Amino acid sequence: MTLNLKDPSLLKNKAYIDGAWVDADQGQTFSVINPATGDVISDVASVGVHETKRAIAAADKAMQTWKQVPAKTRSEVLERWYQLILDHQEDLAVIMTAEQGKPLFESRGEVLYGASFLKWFAEEGKRVYGDVLPSTADRRSIVIKQPVGVVAAITPWNFPNAMITRKVAPALAVGCAMVLKPAAETPLSALALVELAERAGVPAGLFSVLPTLDAPAVGGEMTSNPVVKKVTFTGSTGVGKLLMKQCADTVKRTSMELGGNAPVIIFDDADLEKAVAGALVSKYRNSGQTCICANRFLVQAGVYDAFVERFSAAVNQFQLGNGLDEASTHGPVITEKAATEIHAKVLAAVAEGAHVVTGGKVSNQGSHFYEPTVLTHVTQAMRLFKEEIFGPVAPIFKFDTEEEAIAMANDTEFGLASYVYTNDLGRIWRVSEGIEYGMVGVNETMISSEIIPFGGVKESGQGREGSKYGLDDYLETKYICMGGL
Ligand code: ADP
Repeated sequence: MTLNLKDPSLLKNKAYIDGAWVDADQGQTFSVINPATGDVISDVASVGVHETKRAIAAADKAMQTWKQVPAKTRSEVLERWYQLILDHQEDLAVIMTAEQGKPLFESRGEVLYGASFLKWFAEEGKRVYGDVLPSTADRRSIVIKQPVGVVAAITPWNFPNAMITRKVAPALAVGCAMVLKPAAETPLSALALVELAERAGVPAGLFSVLPTLDAPAVGGEMTSNPVVKKVTFTGSTGVGKLLMKQCADTVKRTSMELGGNAPVIIFDDADLEKAVAGALVSKYRNSGQTCICANRFLVQAGVYDAFVERFSAAVNQFQLGNGLDEASTHGPVITEKAATEIHAKVLAAVAEGAHVVTGGKVSNQGSHFYEPTVLTHVTQAMRLFKEEIFGPVAPIFKFDTEEEAIAMANDTEFGLASYVYTNDLGRIWRVSEGIEYGMVGVNETMISSEIIPFGGVKESGQGREGSKYGLDDYLETKYICMGGL
């Protein structure tokens, strides 16, 4: 399959280890599939434990020099990488849509969002300050910040570009090296990114990319190799817990950005038009496959019917289709299996009394497409309330009081993003402080950017990505006591 790229050399099918494009030692490959068509885009090298060991050793070596390089010079390399991503943004978007399925306009947006982390951390990396602490007359107590060491990163398929840049940019900015295992569904975006990193002057070994079909093998080496000092992961809570357990033996630091179960709480006093618009974007962007996607709509009784009506009417206007077709507003889900799993959740809810307002089945566009769906008559006992749906399905729950809304919002082990629509200032504070989430969008659902600390509480994870706080995840704090003065 041809993608008609302006720069075809961005489409890579090998692993990138220690500054070289290499096949897997044993020659294994796996196919990357376009979810909209089922076509094979490319066969890509599938590496294993040995290649991972090599990449980690190369990272260790490269880091010894890189951490001594002035922050300003590291910043200039990241700036050049940023500029190259901008120069090739359309090709990167096409590659992303082909392997991931999201509509082109969303891929274009993600490429710019992803690039913004390089720009941001190129700047922030120059501002890693220490402290001199108030001490007694005969001593000075000093705190310095140092790079944590070699970092291993494991990333998901839903944001094949931005989930990588928001890890690698702060890591490289402060002097760390990184080895990355991208998701097997979407390795091509990762490989295109590292091609541009090489052109930008990122030294050999500093950033290796390890595509593989054997995630447990590569992940096992990453989490057990003593040279790796930190593991950063974005993905499911189940795999995150497994990686944390594996990291325990060598006491690695971890950053975990895991599942969510985001509530969108809409009060009677909300601006309904804004709430509907925000709810639609949050729920159906990337076909509902984001960890901060609205998972549960909690709507106060007074506006419930009006909300359902307006929301469903808008959903009926969506154009499902191949993301490379500019007319498509929404694309497929990542795999046929994902569509099947989404449908199972809908069927289970319907069996327990949920009503399908619109959608509710696999689309006649093909087995990878699920119809944008709206469900009412849903209850807290249903799987849809407890589990991350990760698909274009909106269950709309009803509540009466503010206390009830807060209790419902908190009735989950997750705590990533949450959203509240109300025009009552007191309520904004009570609810924002009362709900157990790492992020709260008030009258806004598009809350992500490079300037904010993205991350969750409870079983949604630990650590923050982006913002000035995002540097901390890649820094150690060292205390130096100068005595006998
Ligand atoms: P999803 O279900 O959305 O694919 P996963 O958590 O399974 O989420 O995947 C996120 C990332 O974790 C992917 O890169 C995947 O290959 C990787 N992964 C899955 N299982 C393991 C594992 N046992 N060890 C290391 N990485 C894994």
